[in-house]
Amino acid sequence: MRVAIFGTGYVGLVTGTCLADVGHQVVCVDIDQAKVDGLNRGIIPIYEPGLEPMVKANHAASRLAFTTDAATAIGHGQVVFIAVGTPPDEDGSADLQYVLAVARTIGRYISVPTVVVNKSTVPVGTADKVRAAIAEELAARGADIAFDVVSNPEFLKEGDAVADCMRPDRIIIGATSAESVAVMRRLYAPFNRNHDRVVEMDVRSAELTKYAANAMLATKISFMNEIANIAERVGADVEQVRQGIGSDPRIGWHFIYPGAGYGGSCFPKDVQALARTAQQAGLEPKLLNAVEAVNESQKGHLFALIQRHYDKGEDEGVRGRTFAVWGLAFKPNTDDMREASSRRLLAQLWEAGATVRAYDPEAMHESQRIFGERDDLVFCDSADDALQGADALVVVTEWKQFRSPDFQMLRERLKDAVVFDGRNLYEPAEVEAAGLAYYGIGRGRSL
Ligand code: NAD
Repeated sequence: MRVAIFGTGYVGLVTGTCLADVGHQVVCVDIDQAKVDGLNRGIIPIYEPGLEPMVKANHAASRLAFTTDAATAIGHGQVVFIAVGTPPDEDGSADLQYVLAVARTIGRYISVPTVVVNKSTVPVGTADKVRAAIAEELAARGADIAFDVVSNPEFLKEGDAVADCMRPDRIIIGATSAESVAVMRRLYAPFNRNHDRVVEMDVRSAELTKYAANAMLATKISFMNEIANIAERVGADVEQVRQGIGSDPRIGWHFIYPGAGYGGSCFPKDVQALARTAQQAGLEPKLLNAVEAVNESQKGHLFALIQRHYDKGEDEGVRGRTFAVWGLAFKPNTDDMREASSRRLLAQLWEAGATVRAYDPEAMHESQRIFGERDDLVFCDSADDALQGADALVVVTEWKQFRSPDFQMLRERLKDAVVFDGRNLYEPAEVEAAGLAYYGIGRGRSL
């Protein structure tokens, strides 16, 4: 099938590439000329495992094209996807300006009956707004062309996006017209062979499903962070508690890791946007507000542990110290720094007068762009390099390569012999046996 996709970010680029990989003819459109030029030269703007060779292979096979020319792309597509960003507006609601700009562009250029698919995460009722924007443009040019707007939210995880896209848990199709559902089923048929993963529903339910999924996952994280904070106060070990509850199939093992708070481009903004939707509907979102409040304070928890440790000493506390920071991305296997917990930690360390020696396997370029040059930040070439002259180690992102350091070596390299483990990667007893002080999240003895 012929497909056009607006937005070549994490969602649009991965979706377009996977659709091309199963044989569809895909044109990806973006307003960012540099991004499009780069993609046409084989430069992939994001880090996502497995993506680069797929983009190159499908581009070389002429199944995947990149352009800034919206009219040509719309002329190409029987199905036109909207996969642009929906960042938070000032009041926390989703900012729909990019989605609606694409809708107007579609209205301006469609010339044949088209299925418009909204893949961006958008509040309930957005499909109606998209429909109205397209209709307005059609009316302005006196055109009468059939179109439908389908909601098809995306569930891929950054860091695993290609695998998620190629083998989705479910394909949500929110549509009222049987023809549109049939078009979407045909499009996704190559991903839907083993068993039927398509869940058909009405448009509004599809829009809400995406928020419900992300809010549920964020809730699990905030819940575990609250349990970890209780554990810390009462001398229990949340890792043992986690093992104890995960074995209950009603609870399960996924997403019950405490840590330095959730970040990324989705959970924070989607929890806020859903809360805003509830408020607009006259409902106080008590649970969602609590999920967000717990996360906000959890993002400051690592620094609180650091401060508490150093305030016990007789010298100037954190001021003048150097911290090796392992991991900057909001989670492993991505270079995405949006709402990353590391950003709060670094700001707090700098505010307290500390210097940071930072290393992340993939997010260095993005970090340099965000933080720029400053005297109290050294970008390091490796985890080992970050330890050079450091007083303490802080682990912020659970990249695999940070999981088994040589603790004896850390003991020798770190001047203050202390490890702050924001992701509970290490066994406290093992670290302490090497002569280091250890602080994890909710591990009983931090207070
Ligand atoms: P992104 O910021 O990485 O990419 C958005 C892209 O859209 C950018 O390249 C931007 O230049 C482009 N764009 C903006 N206006 C445009 C226009 N008028 N025409 C063409 N291109 C335009 O965003 P993303 O992370 O891919 O997220 C896109 C949507 O998908 C959001 O609603 C997000 O909530 C949702 N989502 C994201 C993820 C994720 O893990 N990132 C997962 C599921 C859903």
